[in-house]
Amino acid sequence: ERYVYRFGGGASDGRAGEKNLLGGKGANLAEMASIGLPVPPGFTISTAMCTRYYEEGERFPDSLREEVAGGIAHIEGVTGKRFGDASDPLLVSVRSGARVSMPGMMDTVLNLGLNDQTVEGLASGSGDARFAWDSYRRFIQMYADVVLGLDHGAFEEALEVAKEDQGFTLDTELSADDLRALVAEYKALVQAEWGKPFPQDVHDQLWGAVGAVFGSWQSERAKVYRRLNDIPAGWGTAVNVQAMVFGNMGETSATGVAFTRDPSKGDRAYYGEFLINAQGEDVVAGIRTPQYLTRAAREDAGAQAASMEEAMPAVYAELAGVFDTLETHYRDMQDIEFTVERGTLWMLQTRSGKRTARAALKIAVDMANEGLISREEAIGRVDPQALDQLLHPTLDPQATRDVIARGLPASPGAASGAAVFDADTAEKWAAEGKAVILVRTETSPEDIHGMHAAKGILTARGGMTSHAAVVARGMGRPCVSGAGGLSIDAKSGRLRVGGREVAQGDTLTLDGSTGEVMAGEVATVQPELAGDFGTLMGWADGCRRMKVRANAETPADCKTAREFGAEGIGLCRTEHMFFDAARITAVRQMILAADEAGRRAALDKLLPEQRDDFAEIFLVMAGLPVTIRLLDPPLHEFLPREEAEFAEVAAAAGTDVETVKRRASDLHEFNPMLGHRGCRLGVTYPEIYEMQARAIFEAAIDIAERTGRAPVPEVMIPLVATRRELELMKAVVDRAAQTVFAERGRTVKYLVGTMIELPRAALKAGEIAEVGEFFSFGTNDLTQTTLGVSRDDAARFLSAYVEQGIYARDPFVSLDVDGVGELVTLAVERGRATRSDIKLGICGEHGGDPASIAFCESAGLDYVSASPYRVPIARLAAAQAAL
Ligand code: PEP
Ligand code: MG
Repeated sequence: ERYVYRFGGGASDGRAGEKNLLGGKGANLAEMASIGLPVPPGFTISTAMCTRYYEEGERFPDSLREEVAGGIAHIEGVTGKRFGDASDPLLVSVRSGARVSMPGMMDTVLNLGLNDQTVEGLASGSGDARFAWDSYRRFIQMYADVVLGLDHGAFEEALEVAKEDQGFTLDTELSADDLRALVAEYKALVQAEWGKPFPQDVHDQLWGAVGAVFGSWQSERAKVYRRLNDIPAGWGTAVNVQAMVFGNMGETSATGVAFTRDPSKGDRAYYGEFLINAQGEDVVAGIRTPQYLTRAAREDAGAQAASMEEAMPAVYAELAGVFDTLETHYRDMQDIEFTVERGTLWMLQTRSGKRTARAALKIAVDMANEGLISREEAIGRVDPQALDQLLHPTLDPQATRDVIARGLPASPGAASGAAVFDADTAEKWAAEGKAVILVRTETSPEDIHGMHAAKGILTARGGMTSHAAVVARGMGRPCVSGAGGLSIDAKSGRLRVGGREVAQGDTLTLDGSTGEVMAGEVATVQPELAGDFGTLMGWADGCRRMKVRANAETPADCKTAREFGAEGIGLCRTEHMFFDAARITAVRQMILAADEAGRRAALDKLLPEQRDDFAEIFLVMAGLPVTIRLLDPPLHEFLPREEAEFAEVAAAAGTDVETVKRRASDLHEFNPMLGHRGCRLGVTYPEIYEMQARAIFEAAIDIAERTGRAPVPEVMIPLVATRRELELMKAVVDRAAQTVFAERGRTVKYLVGTMIELPRAALKAGEIAEVGEFFSFGTNDLTQTTLGVSRDDAARFLSAYVEQGIYARDPFVSLDVDGVGELVTLAVERGRATRSDIKLGICGEHGGDPASIAFCESAGLDYVSASPYRVPIARLAAAQAAL
């Protein structure tokens, strides 16, 4: 089996399509080389080697040594330099590259191949001794950190001391001799900490670095990143070994990162940052503030330092040509790394650029309009989950803002929360339900759990492509980066800015779209749903087969749902209407009544309230289908807990507190989720369902009379297991309908159907469909009852199940297609066999999850129903599933 694939200098063993084998970076280096772009020669060790390396106890097979020797020979052949040659040495970079990019998660070693001899050769070959010794110094520092695992603090300190000794502030002030002395110190540090001298054999260096890159696949931070991003551990990483090119060889050298379009707003403009006389890591690390790529961007920002377009016009023009070639070739926005070595441009990476949801939308719509991609492709280019970012509020432009600092608008959206200064506290406070803003001088991969837990991220240093910015955009967290005025003291938990102080716990607001940082909380407004969003959603609506409804029970939520494009209500949970403070006493009186007469007295109070609720919903949903589910949940949820509540109920029912308490304790259940809930309430207390049905029909007729437009209520019976239950409950509903129709001298159309949320119901769907006119899959309960996992207790152990691959994802979030899905498929078949036009939908949480929606499409459901904010996600996911 082959593990090494060459690229550059006319060779391209791989292709862009081979990301699984070569990783994203390796596959795209091969592709760029194959279309004639300037790529330094190198080779990729495939991901299959990573897997084998771990299978064989972290050892390399002998055959790999020969293959790698061949790879090195390829680089030597193209560059004309030899690895380890004391007069003109070949230096290489060793970088990780998984199938999908994991920014900053894994290790890189640069300048590999330097030792006490080759450094002299580099000095004479480049004619720049300072550069050679600086490269050696950087290499030892990186190698010690990444490969030998030594504490990098000691190396930083030695560098600081070397500068202080001379009264310097910048690294660049150190002379060749200073750096030579520093290298000696670094080597002594390695000897002291590692117990062995710094490896002088360049082949030992190479194998050490390759092992470290494979090893970084199993680092803690990489594991956390994989968990957060659903990346399987089995994928492994590739290793890319490539001839070094130097952006730090003086004023005609530079290094940079760029996007072919604006990754934040999506505008069609080259976008990026570069640094003259610097190595690649200097840009991403956010240590020096980078310069703009284009003159327009520099002028927009009012920055002084020349843009690349101004400082290096010829190379810039060449780079712009490469951008266009790449966009046309890949038909997508690209994220690029490049280096200019003494006026020569080299491409080090290209990949599909990560972008905000807003940019994804704009780029997809623009590219379809430009004719670069089709509308169907445009629909597929936007991650439905990412729409979430667009649907959330932004700062109210009218609200007063106490702006205390400004930084870069690194990731859009607004967030308020308590300031915290370290990732662990952010995670802890968030777990306690607090909104937090993570404030850091700069973030590193170790902060990733805190960034995930935070509502927003603020950093004092770093550019638009710094770690904080890239990760925050990926996670959809608002982020302001490089807020230069901040002085952060993480140890004492405070930050100072312009004479103001913010202590841990004080509220901050960030606007990731403008870069503003504000003290206190600022009011927000709803997002704009027209523009590119409207265009793409329009295209999606034209492609999807399934309808999209919403789960909502308040008129306000119904309005939001309609604005987001809901085509009906798929689940109105009537019990949610009962928690209202004004009604809860009557609800409790009903539950705790000793007999039917007592219950009816309480129900009479509730009837007008329910009728008004339904009328309002029918009004908002004008003419669209509304599925109303009759009372479902375990009664104990409504029981009084406090003394005052018992007293209120007793007074309302005209009895004493003791009687009420006794009745409450009679109602205690060992397992309420499997207890007296759902249609079992209707079977035992039909008057409850009768009241609800009456309220529905009275409201429907009221609205028909008021607006001339009759709603079509779909009355839904919960937790049905048998045909007979549904038959009994349907009879109650039909009787209420006939009574109201007779009283009002008018009828409305309605349907009676059931939820399928118990395995028995799914199995007996054929019989149940003889009675029910529609099914709505209640996959929350169906998951709970099929897996035998309590939906309220699962959080304690499910993450272990997901980590160990027992379930690929949390089955309450993403449908267990193999198990629960099989029951759904079976119920669809059996239900349709009985009643060919039976209406089929889903109203569990899965109705808003794109993967589950794809399943619903293949199962042939008529609609999905999701919470209002997920309606656009469901519309897009349904279109993607249909394409
Ligand atoms: C379900 O069980 O999937 C459902 C929608 O009902 P609830 O979540 O109210 O139990
Ligand atoms: Mg349910």
